[in-house]
Amino acid sequence: MSAGSCSLRHSRRQFLATAGTGALVAGTLQLAAPSASAVTPRQPAAAPVATKVLSFDLADVELADGPFLHAQRKTEAYLLSLQPDRLLHNFRVNAGLTPKAPVYGGWESAPTWEDINCHGHTLGHYLSACSLAYRSTGDARFRQRVDYIAGELAACQKASGTGLVCAFPKGPALVAAHLRGEKITGVPWYTLHKIYAGLRDGALLADSAVARDVLLRLADWGVVATRPLSDAQFEAMLETEHGGMNEVYADLYFMTGNADYRTLAQRFSHKAVMEPLAKGRDYLDGLHANTQVPKAVGFERVYQATGDAQYHQAAAFFWQTVALTRSFATGGHGDNEHFFPMADFADHVFSAKCSETCGQHNMLKLTRALFLHDPRAEYADFYERTLYNGILASQDPDSGMATYFQGARPGYMKLYHTPEDSFWCCTGTGMENHVKYRDSIYFHDDRTLYVNLFVPSAVTWKERGAKLTQTTAFPESPTTTLRWTLRQPAELALKLRHPRWSPTATVLVNGAEAARSRAPGSYVQLDRTWHEGDRVELRLAMEAAAEWAPAAPDIVAFTYGPLVLAGALGREGLAPGSDIVVNERLYGQYNAAPFSPPMLAGAPDNLAASIRPGGKPLEFTLDSAGQAPVRLIPYQRIAHERYATYWKLAPPAA
Ligand SMILES: [Zn+2]
Repeated sequence: MSAGSCSLRHSRRQFLATAGTGALVAGTLQLAAPSASAVTPRQPAAAPVATKVLSFDLADVELADGPFLHAQRKTEAYLLSLQPDRLLHNFRVNAGLTPKAPVYGGWESAPTWEDINCHGHTLGHYLSACSLAYRSTGDARFRQRVDYIAGELAACQKASGTGLVCAFPKGPALVAAHLRGEKITGVPWYTLHKIYAGLRDGALLADSAVARDVLLRLADWGVVATRPLSDAQFEAMLETEHGGMNEVYADLYFMTGNADYRTLAQRFSHKAVMEPLAKGRDYLDGLHANTQVPKAVGFERVYQATGDAQYHQAAAFFWQTVALTRSFATGGHGDNEHFFPMADFADHVFSAKCSETCGQHNMLKLTRALFLHDPRAEYADFYERTLYNGILASQDPDSGMATYFQGARPGYMKLYHTPEDSFWCCTGTGMENHVKYRDSIYFHDDRTLYVNLFVPSAVTWKERGAKLTQTTAFPESPTTTLRWTLRQPAELALKLRHPRWSPTATVLVNGAEAARSRAPGSYVQLDRTWHEGDRVELRLAMEAAAEWAPAAPDIVAFTYGPLVLAGALGREGLAPGSDIVVNERLYGQYNAAPFSPPMLAGAPDNLAASIRPGGKPLEFTLDSAGQAPVRLIPYQRIAHERYATYWKLAPPAA
């Protein structure tokens, strides 16, 4: 489908909900909710379950120079390069309005992806990303884009007479057929979830009143449209990927206090997945991974909205099994987007289609949500691991484009999307990933400040009149320094994460040793009366180590602190730009000339012990069997060259 080819055909599609069989019949639209404010209470709801810790407003965290700020700047530039009117093209068409600019390519319009019906998903991610960028930077250009897009969607709602806004080629007919229980191709609720979430973020992060109005009208449309479905019909509909619809309706409940939204959050919670997980049953083998992760994010949010512990048990158990037993050393999971039996690890680890980046994005959302209720270092450890080796690693540091898969086929390379002809799911989550690094560095309760990540930054704790500035060259140096700025002396606890990868942690306050920990995977807590200018130094120890899956002890990855070290295997045979690709389905076929990686031989721990520092920070060498030594660098720094993250070891020489 070329730009603009779907105009007129799809205008004024309308449908009607009928009760009884739960069927929806194409016809005249009767689903237009009255003005949202007239029908629902609009006061924020209190949570029945309070979290143990809170996050900081993105606006209260500053990011200083370093790889994370670099990544943020690249995404900011990409966001500003995109044209809202092009993203809005099919939304206007479906509302019977003339589009203002041609549609974008890739998943947004190209025939290759017609079957998945993800048209319009990018607009939702874009709204989220611009909202996050606005909150992080205060740059008014991002807020203007949020307000502009929301205003255009409001015009679509007005013109079509319905709260539903969508960009599907067949307009609302796809959603109607899905609600009727008919066989469809595509994932309408998955796609709509991005639009809901984008509007939510516009309302909450960019303070966009128009985004809030559009969202509530869309939300009320959803309440009316799904009401005729019996529980069994609803559950059957949830067999199709639906993103985090349960999460966003729980958020809507918190925003408004409208009990209909909370009920719908529960109805959108897939019981066939939730109930076994809540009982501690891991039956995830073979399931589509990134369909399940957002459900679990939503389970935790529904728990907050309802107090029903079953939802939390399901979310926590899901995290445990995916993070601790199903993840690669990089924090990614899955092969060809699906969970596999870990007994078959050796059959999957070297696939070019492992570790979909969206899966990492959503696992971090889940990790963060669980941490708020149960602030354990184990969650923060996984967060750090995946943030460096999955999220930061996913962005091309030159173009700012992002990966889809991050596979471990030896000698393969990272492939990134094009600016305007891909628009994959991972393009969308990729827009969000790098403008929200500030959201998980620090947390707090009434009197405790948690330092979870070692990132050059500062946090302002308004309620306590305190600011903490973190200066660090981490991970190039395994230390970080924190300095208090205080209006007056303050009695506070500081909790510094002692990561699981560091055998010891030593803390100095104003140059004198104040604490020493030999418990990796915990927090070092300092309770004292702090004074202006007090300086805290955390000293950790980074060492090379080997990691392997229980089912395949001869296939190992090497780590250094939280970083996965990848063999940097050069660019031979790779044309410049050949790693910027349109079609994610062809991963494994690009740059696929045969390649023989160096062979490593020996016992894993002996090999790790033999890793030697190279000439530059975080560069190492490792001897290979009879060939030149392998250069190892953090996987996060690999770009435009072949790499290996897992190695099949030859037996030690006799
Ligand atoms: Zn994706």
